[in-house]
Order: sequence, then structure tokens, then C-alpha cells
Amino acid sequence: MLEQVSWIYRRPAEDGIRIIFDNDVAFFPIPQDLFVCDVCNAEIDFRPVPVITGYAYCAECCRQYFGFDPRNEHPEQIEVK
Ligand SMILES: [Zn+2]
Repeated sequence: MLEQVSWIYRRPAEDGIRIIFDNDVAFFPIPQDLFVCDVCNAEIDFRPVPVITGYAYCAECCRQYFGFDPRNEHPEQIEVK
């Protein structure tokens, strides 16, 4: 199946952690330039960051699961099994 790859430089400002108490919500924003691999939790230190089916991938996981190096290649679609 072909999947779209989004290449992003910054996360949306509304990304963050919301903790709900009784009737109150505490919001802790995540820095817009901080990206962590959704598979292995490694910090992603290159830009743009590949996002595939809603998940950010580091270079190592991209190579392992999708067979491309996001530091050098920026495909718009990839084959996902
Ligand atoms: Zn990873």
C-alpha cells in the first residue's frame, strides 16, 4: 500500500500534554522544534522530519522499516506493507 510522507520542520503550536483535573485543564506545550521518534524515542536531529501515517520517524527507523534515509532522500510516497 502506498502511504503519503509529510515532511515537517515544526510541530503545531497546539501540540502538548493536557492534564485534566476536576473542571480545569493544565496545558504543557511541547517545544515546536523538538521531535522524538515515535518508534524508538530517539531525538530526531535532522530536518525536515518524515511523518508517515501520523508518526514521526528517526533516520534509523526509516531505514529499517521503509528502506530510505531521510537525511538524503525525501520521497513523497512510500510502499508500506
Ligand atoms: Zn526511531
